[in-house]
This record gives sequence, C-alpha cells and structure tokens, in this order.
Amino acid sequence: MELNIQSNISLKPFNTFGIEEKTSFLIEVNDNETLTQIFKKGIFQENFFVLGAGSNVLFTKPFEGYIIRMNSKGIQSKIESDHVYVTAKAGEIWNDFVWHCIKNNYAGIENMALIPGTVGASPVQNIGAYGTELMYVFYECEAFDTQTGEFTTFKKQDCDFSYRDSIFKSKYKGRFIITQVTYKLSRIPHINSSYGAIEAELTKENISQPTIADIANVVSRIRVEKLPDPSTVGNAGSFFKNPIVSEKTFKRLQAQYPTIPHYPMPKNQTKLAAGWLIEQCGWKGKEYGQAGVWKNQALVLINRQNATGQEIYRLSEQIICDVKQKFDIILEREVNLL
Ligand SMILES: Cc1cc2nc3c(=O)[nH]c(=O)nc-3n(C[C@H](O)[C@H](O)[C@H](O)COP(=O)(O)OP(=O)(O)OC[C@H]3O[C@@H](n4cnc5c(N)ncnc54)[C@H](O)[C@@H]3O)c2cc1C
Repeated sequence: MELNIQSNISLKPFNTFGIEEKTSFLIEVNDNETLTQIFKKGIFQENFFVLGAGSNVLFTKPFEGYIIRMNSKGIQSKIESDHVYVTAKAGEIWNDFVWHCIKNNYAGIENMALIPGTVGASPVQNIGAYGTELMYVFYECEAFDTQTGEFTTFKKQDCDFSYRDSIFKSKYKGRFIITQVTYKLSRIPHINSSYGAIEAELTKENISQPTIADIANVVSRIRVEKLPDPSTVGNAGSFFKNPIVSEKTFKRLQAQYPTIPHYPMPKNQTKLAAGWLIEQCGWKGKEYGQAGVWKNQALVLINRQNATGQEIYRLSEQIICDVKQKFDIILEREVNLL
C-alpha cells in the first residue's frame, strides 16, 4: 500500500495538554510494514518523533518534521501453568489493555488502571502507579531500529528500567520504535492494596476480599478524584519526577521540615514528593496566564483554556526555580518537551 503522508496537521487532538501546534507531516502506523516503508523512503534520516496518545508530551513550537503516530492494534495470550504471556500491539490503549487482562483474570497490572497512553509507550518511562511499576510485569518487547531498518527484541535485562526511566529514554532515546510489548502476568492474583488510599477506599466500600477488578475500580476512582480529566482540562499527569536524594540531603531537609513526606529507596536513597515541595512554594491551585497548577495535586500543570506550550514551559521554569531556592533541590521534568 502507498504510504499515506498527511501534511500541515494540527496536533491539538493528539496531545492531552490540548496544545494547538502544527506538524509539517503526520504518518499513522497501523502495522510493521509501514515502518519498513518509512525507512525505505529515508524519513528516519530527517527530523521525526514517535507519538502514542500524546499524554506525556508538551509541544512548545510547531513541529518541523514527521510525527510517526503508533496506532497498531491486537492482543494475544499464551498460557503457561500459573502464568500468562500477553502480547499487545503498540497502539493499544493502555487502560483498555488493563481491562482486557482483568476480564481474563490475568493479574499484575490492575494497580496501573486508568494511566492514559498506549501500550507502546509503557516501557519508555517504565510507567507506574499505586505501588507497582511496569518493569515488574515486562517480559520483552519488539522494536524497530530506525537506524538499520531491522526489528529486534529487547528482554527485560536489556531495558535498564528504573524509576520513570528506561534505555528508550536514555541511551536509545528516539532510536527504537516499540511495535509490541509482551507482559508476564499471573493467573493467581496477588492483591496489592497497601499503597495510598486503596485500603481505606476498600473499607469504605465494605470490600474485605478484593478481586483484581475491585482494585482497578478503586484505583480508577481515586485517580479521577485527584487528577484532572484531560478531555476537560488539558494536562499530562505528573509534570515533574519525584526527586530521589542522598541520605545526607534527606537528613538536611528533614531537620528543617520534620513533616516532609518521604519514601525509602534502595542504596540509602530517599524519594521525595515533588508535589509537596511545589505546594510548599505556594503554587498549588495558582494560575499563570492561561496555564496553572492543579488545585488537588501540585505536581500536575494544566492548560486552563488556551495556553500555549511556551506558557506551560515558563510556568515549569518558575516552579523549578522556586523549589531550588527553597529546598536546594532541582526538579526534573517527566514530560517530554518538543
Ligand atoms: C491525567 C494523566 C495521568 C497520568 N498518570 C500517570 C501515572 O500514574 N504514571 C505514569 O507513569 N504516567 C502517568 N501519566 C503519563 C502518561 O500516561 C504515560 O507516560 C504514558 O505511558 C504515555 O503514553 P503515550 O502513548 O501517551 O505516550 P506519548 O506521550 O505519545 O509519548 C511519550 C514518550 O514515549 C515515546 N513513545 C511513545 N510511543 C512509543 C513507541 N511505540 N515506541 C517508542 N517510543 C514511544 C514518545 O516518543 C515520547 O518520548 C499520566 C498522564 C496523564 C495525562
């Protein structure tokens, strides 16, 4: 089939911030053959960017080049005694995939219900929520090498997963296009209700022996209360990563701020809550032109109406500056800037 290259396309429907910027070209990818065609045309030697559902990107200017939008669909499972290997194409919507697994009683991703985005993006920043991370269920992924035009397989040990990070965000940033992901899930559920408000919600609803569907439902309800719905208020979830600091830095901060929220990490490190740091600087619920900080969670920057990507970027710069001044901590953006 002839390659369908659309030109001068608005990106507004393709990013959850709802930023109005244009791309010179857009190509929808529904199968692996399309990637080979794009390669043969030499497009990967030009400026390009791979997009899933656009829920972790901020467009700050018109995109001069090719947006490659992953839209391939399909899910297959292979049962092996207590486990199941489930393979999903990159363009599957993550939350639909989570519910597909729950309906089949495949456990392990129910705590990550309602995270926006696609399956293909899930390993890129090792998505995580409510006490779990993708790396715990990741088995392997197939990826297209835009430099050689070949398909290759990444096993878990090849991916360098860590908190909101992987090899696809570091060493191989922008080089590989993930075409499908295989997850190793359990057919014997291990319920994990210890994180955040899950337990309290279950008690409120009189659920003493939760199923994986109960966990996903409760997590979804908590998320809806806390986070703005991108279909009404543009946002990309957590704009910044939670900083991970050394023991020395943590002790310094705890002496000054005894109530500082913190979570122990390996190697004597401590994870701090970026939202709390931002809130302490007075930013929670604040407006900044057409941009702003979400009233229920200071980690989330929002497009109040018609914000430009530049406006949201400037707000993030201001927040980074204030947090540095007050706590001597440099916040890192989780969202991809373009
Ligand atoms: C309301 C809200 C809540 C959120 N909550 C969470 C949360 O709890 N936990 C969490 O981890 N994240 C969260 N996020 C962020 C977002 O959901 C994830 O980062 C998600 O994985 C992004 O998927 P996407 O398809 O939208 O990726 P995009 O935003 O389109 O792309 C993100 C990055 O992945 C790359 N990419 C996308 N697809 C591919 C592919 N097939 N191959 C290679 N690279 C690819 C892009 O080039 C880009 O660098 C939230 C976002 C929103 C809007």
